Amino acid sequence: MPPDRVLVRLSSLGDVVLVGAITAAFPGDTGVLTLPRYADLIARARGVSAVYVPGDVLPDVPIVDLHNSPASRRLTLGRNVRGVERQDLRRRLHVAFKTRPGDLVVDRYALAAGVAVAPAPWFPAAERGGTLIIAPGAAHATKRWPYWRALAKAWPGPVRALGGPGDEAAIADIGGVCEDGWVRTLEAMNGACALVGGDTGLLHLAAAVGLPVVGIFGPTTSADGFWCHAGEAVELPLPCRPCSRFGGAVCAVGDHACMRGIDVARVIAAIERVTAPRSGAA
Ligand code: SF4
Repeated sequence: MPPDRVLVRLSSLGDVVLVGAITAAFPGDTGVLTLPRYADLIARARGVSAVYVPGDVLPDVPIVDLHNSPASRRLTLGRNVRGVERQDLRRRLHVAFKTRPGDLVVDRYALAAGVAVAPAPWFPAAERGGTLIIAPGAAHATKRWPYWRALAKAWPGPVRALGGPGDEAAIADIGGVCEDGWVRTLEAMNGACALVGGDTGLLHLAAAVGLPVVGIFGPTTSADGFWCHAGEAVELPLPCRPCSRFGGAVCAVGDHACMRGIDVARVIAAIERVTAPRSGAA
């Protein structure tokens, strides 16, 4: 049986993870078209019954293009497609002139799909335990917080450093492991009490399996992007923020104060708040 609809999101990790907030909201079966490297991962999202990769023939069902890029439009050419509003200009103006931020990614997805965002978890929930997961990796240098090793030493409970493909150097610095593939990474989150990381796909993946998360934001902000999670965003009110939509190689101001100004004690306090038993909880 074909799915009732197909959602399209080719990349990247954080965006693909947020597609789970939409597939979980639909009644019935949903198919997702994505790049092969995310196929195993999105197949685990709630509500997903079929996964397609470029080159596959899509079934004759409504399509919602949550990517709306030249590549995704080529793949759905001639079909009845509803595309997400990208808000590229608004988001660029926000970076350049500190004007109104774009809407959160997940809200734009929900609007395009015509559903309300489903509450997390959007993927099979992680088994909860007592280990703090630290995710120090970030593709862009300005998104890297310099105190991960100090945090690992200072946290009073068990700690595990975790990275995905591409995070090897950051992980080696604090003695953790890089899992081979996103599904292994997702499974490695079992036994955690929370995950702390930068504004990266791993942070959003942890939130998608229901873990409390602490996100450390520097060149990007929690108001303009992927943050929609149970947890805390730690960030400083600097006039240069945000300086980038995705992070960059060097700090334009030169001092990297957006990250260097966030000390370990502040992050520990945030972790303690998100892992504290809630009043009234059993
Ligand atoms: S300190 Fe300002 S300019 Fe430098 S990376 Fe952070 S947000 Fe960008």
